[in-house]
Parts: sequence; structure tokens; C-alpha cells
Amino acid sequence: MDETTTVMIIASNVSKRFGKLKALDNVSVACNKGECIALLGPNGSGKTTLIKSILGMVVPDSGFITFNGKNILHDWLYRRHIGYMPQIGRYPDNMTIEQVFSMMKDIRSAEGNKQPDNSLAEQFGLMNILHKRMRTLSGGTRQKVSASIAFMFDPDVYILDEPTAGLDPVAAEVLKEKIILEKSKGKLVLITSHILSELDDLITHVIYMQEGAMLFHKKIGDLQADTGEIKLSKAIAAVMLKK
Ligand code: ADP
Ligand code: MG
Repeated sequence: MDETTTVMIIASNVSKRFGKLKALDNVSVACNKGECIALLGPNGSGKTTLIKSILGMVVPDSGFITFNGKNILHDWLYRRHIGYMPQIGRYPDNMTIEQVFSMMKDIRSAEGNKQPDNSLAEQFGLMNILHKRMRTLSGGTRQKVSASIAFMFDPDVYILDEPTAGLDPVAAEVLKEKIILEKSKGKLVLITSHILSELDDLITHVIYMQEGAMLFHKKIGDLQADTGEIKLSKAIAAVMLKK
């Protein structure tokens, strides 16, 4: 194993309020190349706000975020290195799947990217229904479109917000295999999911958020050793019961 760590993303004392609500409370974290980090916590604990802060879609009130050593405030081009799958993907209703894909390819190729990777779209069967308009698609098929786009441009980092929500079991497995493949290439993966069993053979680290604060950030091996539980769902339950 290569033990050198390459820091890709640093959040340093990041706080964000929405009115009175502290959505992020002094969050500090470093994410390295090759890691697959599960971002966990109850609804409303700040997971999506942290993800959006990393993407520059939410601007923190205080603290800062760096991507590859550069403060993201001064360099929005870093986003070309991220494949993002949003919790809810929004697309122009009247566009066909094909038009959405080619729109994304136009935007990305303008940034000098190589041949798009259509493997997920192919495995999901989207290439056979490219003519369908976005408004006619089921929630699960929209998710497949979002996933296909996130993995299309060979990014260094994947940020996946509830990626398997609404996917059928076969599609969820296809996506999981793709994540494992990309991780093996040294990519960084940040993933949120409510279905902890899906994360078991995927993740290297766990970040647990509660009320905007980071409760812990651990290697999966350390979490297992601390709790005596192998399964992520049991380990998390053990931590929460001890508190
Ligand atoms: P999670 O993804 O962990 O479920 P979120 O990051 O989406 O949580 O939300 C954290 C808290 O911030 C929630 O209470 C949510 O209602 C609030 N929040 C998120 N975005 C906004 C916003 N744009 N305006 C007001 N409140 C928001
Ligand atoms: Mg969320």
C-alpha cells in the first residue's frame, strides 16, 4: 500500500447560519486522495450544506475551504475536478436525455476534458431511451441520469449525495461497482447514504454530523475496533448508545 497521503480537500473552521439556525458549526476536516468517506448524520445535520460548501454553492460565514491547496473562493475552475451527484437532480423538463448529456459534454469539453465515459449510461440502459424527455422519467431514471453525468468526465473527486435513493437494486449494484472501480484508481469519494448496509464494502472513513457539528471523523477500522462491531450500521448504533 502507498502510505503517502495527498490532501485534496480541507475545510477549516467552517460555519454557516441560515437565520438563527446553525447549519454548520465550526467544521474542520481533511479529505485525502484514495479515501471513500461516508458522510453520516440525521436529517438536517448539515451534510448537504457541507457538500454544497465544498462545491461553492453555499458560501460559509466563516472559515475557509481549499481544493488541491487553493482557497476555492479564488478559483471556481476547481469544480471541473469534481463529479457531483445531487440529492435531487433538476433538469429542463423538455430536454431529452440525449440533449442533457450533450449539454453537459459541451460544457465540460469547453474545459478541455477527454472522451466522455458513457459506461454507467450504457449499463443503466439509458442509451436505449435517449429520446425520452426528462419530464417523462421516473425518479429512479432521473437518478440514473444524474449518476451517469457525475461519472462521465473522469474527475479526481466524486461527491455523491444519497446516490442510490430511488435506484432499483440492480442499478444500485452497478453504481456501487463503479464507485469501487473509481476508488481503486485513487479517486476521493464523499458519499452520503441512509442505507448504511450499502456502504459496508465501500468506505474507508466515516464522518458523523450532528446539529451542524462534526461529532467524529474516523477510519472505518478504528470505528470497528472502538465499538467491536464490523457492520457500519451496528458500529454507528454502538457509538450513539454510548453517548
Ligand atoms: P442534511 O443534508 O444533513 O439533511 P442540510 O445540510 O440539508 O441537512 O440542512 C441542515 C439544516 O440547514 C436544516 O435544518 C435545513 O433546513 C437548513 N437549511 C439548509 N439549506 C437552507 C437554506 N438554503 N435556507 C434555510 N435553511 C437551510
Ligand atoms: Mg441532505
